[in-house]
Amino acid sequence: MKHYAAGAALAIASLHASFAQAQNAPDAIDAHLNAARVAAGFDFTGTLARLCVAPPMVTGIRDVAPGPPPARETWFTEPAKVFDNLYFVGSKIHSSWALTTSDGIILIDTLFTYNSEEEIVGGLKKLGLDPAKVKYVIISHAHGDHDGGAKLMQDRFGSRIVMGGPDWDSTEKSVNAHPLGKPRRDIVADDGQKITLGDTTVTVVTTPGHTRGTLSLLFTVKDRGRPLSVAYSGGTAFNFPWSVPNFDIYINSQRKMAAAAAAANATVLLSNHSEFDNAVSKIKMLAARKPGEPSPFELGADAVARYFKVSEECAQAARLKLIESSPKTP
Ligand SMILES: [Zn+2]
Repeated sequence: MKHYAAGAALAIASLHASFAQAQNAPDAIDAHLNAARVAAGFDFTGTLARLCVAPPMVTGIRDVAPGPPPARETWFTEPAKVFDNLYFVGSKIHSSWALTTSDGIILIDTLFTYNSEEEIVGGLKKLGLDPAKVKYVIISHAHGDHDGGAKLMQDRFGSRIVMGGPDWDSTEKSVNAHPLGKPRRDIVADDGQKITLGDTTVTVVTTPGHTRGTLSLLFTVKDRGRPLSVAYSGGTAFNFPWSVPNFDIYINSQRKMAAAAAAANATVLLSNHSEFDNAVSKIKMLAARKPGEPSPFELGADAVARYFKVSEECAQAARLKLIESSPKTP
């Protein structure tokens, strides 16, 4: 009997709780949106806009052929040295980062198939780096704006390709997304895996959400000789099929990466889209940097924590909106 009574009390309590939640859902959504706004401050307005301002609801994963390449002036930008051992070989929109080591280069992401040749291979050469020295290519996730040059790097330079297991699976299963061929399955990244080349180590933090195999990374750069810890966020937008479990996976990954970044005392936040980390505008600011001034990429540990707060809080808001908009059983 006691069990029954306790069970009934619990059921009533949870009924009250869900009633209260239904009553206060708009308030709760607002609270998350507001927390995201506060966390974003002036540092992450692009991330806030993309994730918190009416992100489009996605119902399924599309396996479609890429469209025709857009005009070059919409994407081309010059490569740049960002830290002593980190170079930007991305486009105006997407980032590809080249981490130089004592034994070659680790490349992070490869843009689209149509611009990886010019931006990455051409960009490395312009910077005085040899693309044949790229030993590892880490793909943050298997979407066409990040893995487009993986096959090129594998075929031409024999670079080892590192990707999350679920994203290797989706690459192999896709029918239409790779009309010019796919990279062959190579290194499957694991949580906590260390990719070491010469004197440099990149630590993998699996952050499923954006895709099931999304990889985030921790590594160290040097800024005029001073070591700085970098948190690299590998997947941001909510373009996964919208469901409460998928948002829960995403939210857990943001918390996990925030904790990993804090443990590493990361003071630099990098992403693979310039709208999230302002890489392209910061590169312009770098050109005017005076001796003794900090790098515009060095934000501090508090800002790095706030970045992951933005993505988490926007996901919380979207999750609640999804619950609110789903049909209620009477
Ligand atoms: Zn993506």
